[in-house]
Amino acid sequence: MDAGRANIDLAVEELAAGLPAPLADLAGIAYDYRWSWTPGADAVFAALDPDRWGRIHQNPVRMLRECSRTRLNSAAADEGLLDCIGTLLARYEDDGARASADVPGISRDSPVAFVCAEFGVHESLPVYSGGLGALAGDMLKQASDDAFPLVAMGLLYREGYFRQRIDAGGLQHESWDDLDPEMVPAARVTDDAGAPITITVPVSGEAVLAHIWRVDVGRVPLFLLDTDVPGNSPIARWITARLYVGDPQIRLAQYAMLGIGSMRALSALGISPSVVHLNEGHGALAAFELAREQIGDGVPVDQAIEHARRQVVFTTHTPVPAGNDTYPAARAIGALGEYAREIGLDDEDLLRLGRTDPLDLDEEFGITQLALRTSRAANGVSRRHGRVSRRMWAPVWPGRAVDGVPITHVTNGVHIPSWVGPEMNALFDRILTADWRMRSAVPETWQPLAEVPAAELWAARCAQRARLVSLVRMRSVHERLGRGEETSYVEAAARVFDPAILTIGFARRLATYKRLDLLVHDVDRAMALLNGNRPVQLVLAGKAHPHDDEGKRLLQDLFGSPVADDHGTRVVFLDDYDLGLARVLVQGCDLWLNLPRPPLEASGTSGMKSSINGGLQLSVLDGWWAEGYDPSRGWAIDGTTDDDHAAQDARDADALFSILEGEVLPAFYDRDADDLPTGWLSRMRASVMGLAPEFSAARMLDDYESRVYSGA
Ligand SMILES: *Cc1c(COP(=O)(O)O)cnc(C)c1O
Repeated sequence: MDAGRANIDLAVEELAAGLPAPLADLAGIAYDYRWSWTPGADAVFAALDPDRWGRIHQNPVRMLRECSRTRLNSAAADEGLLDCIGTLLARYEDDGARASADVPGISRDSPVAFVCAEFGVHESLPVYSGGLGALAGDMLKQASDDAFPLVAMGLLYREGYFRQRIDAGGLQHESWDDLDPEMVPAARVTDDAGAPITITVPVSGEAVLAHIWRVDVGRVPLFLLDTDVPGNSPIARWITARLYVGDPQIRLAQYAMLGIGSMRALSALGISPSVVHLNEGHGALAAFELAREQIGDGVPVDQAIEHARRQVVFTTHTPVPAGNDTYPAARAIGALGEYAREIGLDDEDLLRLGRTDPLDLDEEFGITQLALRTSRAANGVSRRHGRVSRRMWAPVWPGRAVDGVPITHVTNGVHIPSWVGPEMNALFDRILTADWRMRSAVPETWQPLAEVPAAELWAARCAQRARLVSLVRMRSVHERLGRGEETSYVEAAARVFDPAILTIGFARRLATYKRLDLLVHDVDRAMALLNGNRPVQLVLAGKAHPHDDEGKRLLQDLFGSPVADDHGTRVVFLDDYDLGLARVLVQGCDLWLNLPRPPLEASGTSGMKSSINGGLQLSVLDGWWAEGYDPSRGWAIDGTTDDDHAAQDARDADALFSILEGEVLPAFYDRDADDLPTGWLSRMRASVMGLAPEFSAARMLDDYESRVYSGA
């Protein structure tokens, strides 16, 4: 797990050399994402140059490289700041010095290797594109907090998560920033002689080379493969350029890199994992690489794969077909056949492992089927998603009853220290025990919330809402200017939103099944709600996949709706949803909406992030909310499935507005003599106390440990 550590140290030294001596320790802090969930660290970097800090997406390495000499010198003379740096450094050292957790069969010498196509550790490292990445990032941070021996394997996208700009007509425009690895907290891993450690994976007739970058996420190293290296053809250099490209050949090449490449990288780094955890099926080819040696020794293919299988576990994250892609046989063979033959698998061996029915020669090669076949344990990401997955994938186990399909569930959770807002965090520090962050999965940890004075709880909520309102104002001015709107409309942006009004949020990937359109389903009712004497304001954000025309159309419909055309004072769409914007939104909104078409929401995690900030949920009973909902905590829309989508939409939109009008508004606006919304506050308490422990990443990692990783 120390592979590449020396390269990070060298990068830290170089960065420190350019800083005034009293600030030198900041270099080491910048090169470890631990700062992003350590209270007070954000303020230290921001103090150097607050405006730049926001503009560079809070990238600490870039901050230290680009900050002017004058500012650095004045920071170096600021005793208060130097004290903070000293405190941070001590925290880093204490945290790193802890002994690893005692987990049977798993240790620093044989850690869990967590393989994922995306990692949402922080917005300054845009190698993620949505919920899967955010979840993976939270998993790494939790493993660090728990001192759980885990290494992570992924791809370094040079043009990662795209930037989004919406024009005045609601059309999404995408652009890609070039990621300069020297400008992020990453170091290329080299051998002792200083040469980059290079692995090779045969793909589509080319021996594709990849270098390995190390990123420190607290105690957890994240290794990212990079094919943009000299010696590769232009196409091979492009393999790790973008996330989830549409071209099937490049996609398969990415899967080969992630699955085979990760396993080769681990062995080049001297790491032999006890468990390989495929977080989504993209890395499913890993099992072949694990079986390679035995096949070479003459062990029959089936037997060798059976053996490799004992090391692999698999988490499926979506029942949506686009998330379970398949490829025509010729394509799969074209991309992967050479590798397969090299390790002793003939074309037919390869194909049948990726088919639901191995003998159906017309069936395409599916990456999820391959992952299911080559793992010893599989799980969905909520109780309901577990059931849905068992039914969906039952044909892979012919002759078994659906209940007997070996797919269990581990419900997702979120890394609380990463998502909790400053005022709620301060409240927790004040009323909970000092070690609450380390005991977040224990229900008793949250018990003191029952006693906290209503005024204190409300003050924290209002302060977090106020921060969101000022961000909305600032960004709306900017975005309207960028869209070339009329001056009066731009000026109105500075007055949009009111810090005292019920603030509703809806932000996520703009996939059609998430049903953003339910919000404008009934225009008259929506207008009445926005402009009533108990008004609401609505903040929206989200990106449609660049190839998802349907998702983009939803956005245009929204912009074209009279609901959005109220001069934009009560409804605001913020461009360029990312982890940073997600944080402000989940921290500031009073009510968080989720309106998926059941049963397509495997889990959903933004609502969990909202609930630990005292946000209440109004959501379809699908994914996590089907197990988190309780009338004392929030509101629910029926989660039964219906093949008549139009009827279902009409029914669910009606339920949404009825709940908003009849229950949400009174709960928020009925106040006691001290102007406190007692009904709202009692739900807030019940919600944080009930949901925080249950939907924390701490509970999630405990579950993976006891129900998935163990039992090899
Ligand atoms: C949490 C998060 C998501 C996942 O949101 P869902 O509610 O699961 O749709 C997506 N994108 C970002 C940036 C997030 O932080």
